[in-house]
Amino acid sequence: MQHRIIPQPNLLDYTDGICPAERAVPVVETDEAMPPEGYALAVRPDGVTVRCKTPQGLFYAKQTLSMLQNENGSLPCVSIQDAPRFAYRAFMLDSARHMQTIDEIKRYIDVAARFKMNVFHWHLSDDQGFRIECERFPKLNEVGSFRDGHGFGSSDTSRYGGFYTKAEIRDIVSYCADRFIRVIPEIDMPGHTKAILASYPSLSCRETPIAVETQAGVFRDILCAGKEEVVSFCCDLLDEVCELFPDEWVHIGGDEAPKNRWRQCDCCKDRMAKAHLDSFEALQGDFMNRIAAHLRTKGKRAVAWNESLKSGCLDGDVIIADWMDRDKLCPARANAGGEIIAEDFFHYYLDYPYAMTPLKKVYTFDPLPEGLTEMGRPGVIGVETPLWTEFIEDFEKLCKMAFPRLLAVAERDWTYEENCDYADFRRRAEESRPWLQSQGVVMDPQSAWDPKGLSRLKKLLAHYKKTLTRDMLLSFFSKKDD
Ligand SMILES: [Zn+2]
Repeated sequence: MQHRIIPQPNLLDYTDGICPAERAVPVVETDEAMPPEGYALAVRPDGVTVRCKTPQGLFYAKQTLSMLQNENGSLPCVSIQDAPRFAYRAFMLDSARHMQTIDEIKRYIDVAARFKMNVFHWHLSDDQGFRIECERFPKLNEVGSFRDGHGFGSSDTSRYGGFYTKAEIRDIVSYCADRFIRVIPEIDMPGHTKAILASYPSLSCRETPIAVETQAGVFRDILCAGKEEVVSFCCDLLDEVCELFPDEWVHIGGDEAPKNRWRQCDCCKDRMAKAHLDSFEALQGDFMNRIAAHLRTKGKRAVAWNESLKSGCLDGDVIIADWMDRDKLCPARANAGGEIIAEDFFHYYLDYPYAMTPLKKVYTFDPLPEGLTEMGRPGVIGVETPLWTEFIEDFEKLCKMAFPRLLAVAERDWTYEENCDYADFRRRAEESRPWLQSQGVVMDPQSAWDPKGLSRLKKLLAHYKKTLTRDMLLSFFSKKDD
């Protein structure tokens, strides 16, 4: 027998018979012995029983039941024992480069919830826009939320931008809570901050006025790490952000921060001398640690992209988002007791074409990085799939990039390796199409999921294996979809 359930349950046995629609109302029993997100499901001809410990387990049992259900409402008789492989199962959405409407974000959340994801990492501040309503620093909205032109090579030169009001953000957080999804906001710092610097130029090393960025890339203008004013600005800003986001974790960025300005800055050099820091990377570590320390006073923990590990001094409780770890610092961190989120650029970045990241490549990838010891393995707490929007202006394109690849990640972060089967997953992804369509999510036909004949791209990837940057790929794909 075949079913349509994604992610594949970890233990599923068919038993004889059918449970008719009128008896398919589950009886729920609380079972303290179940894992927090786990559930057990017994469908018999005379009825349905769900055992779980928490309302979250029950929520997941209901998702499974709705995927099992036949068109006439009956259920095949099964016995399922299920719980996730990873506790952290996340999707990231970049609403800084291009915004999505609240309704579109909710649809994305609905799909993620159905496939048992439980964390929404919301990227809300970048060079090209600041997207949270802010009372303490009003220029972040007046200046930083808008850019001159749509940017990223678009011919549309009208002003682009906006921000989410506090009411809208609270609405999203509560919408997620109803679906057992945590919301982790990201305020990227010290790099990717041109929108903040355009609003408050005194926060940079040179203090020269700059504009909100309109192109993709990594930029030299970043927050000064030497001025006390900058640290207090970031802490005050995070205080206001934390009022909106009750989750214990806050993502503070820490990726792609060129040190050109710091090298020329007396304030930055003074801080290095005062704090006995021997490199500009260490200065970044020091900066991230000061922000993380402030969050700690609020009972919160910082998450940072893996570049921040290059400092060699990042506090041990900072959770690391491992997207491109050329120096293999992440497995070492996990082996030393740290926590890592696996979100590999070459496998989980949904904004790149299927030509570069075909569905099979996403599905068959083992999220555990090489070099983990037995002790280090539990340090990889989960998987995340980011979707950046430099070149994704509308929700239709966003959906085509995300689906079905997001479903593949959802299965890999829930289902144990031995229960994963790519051919069967493809069939189930196709069978999810009608439900996705009912949510306004359109997938490309199956023929587009694993495209062939990618010689130009393969050559590029092989040639630049060690030095390839996101920038180079973005410019490659903005010229032509291979
Ligand atoms: Zn400076």
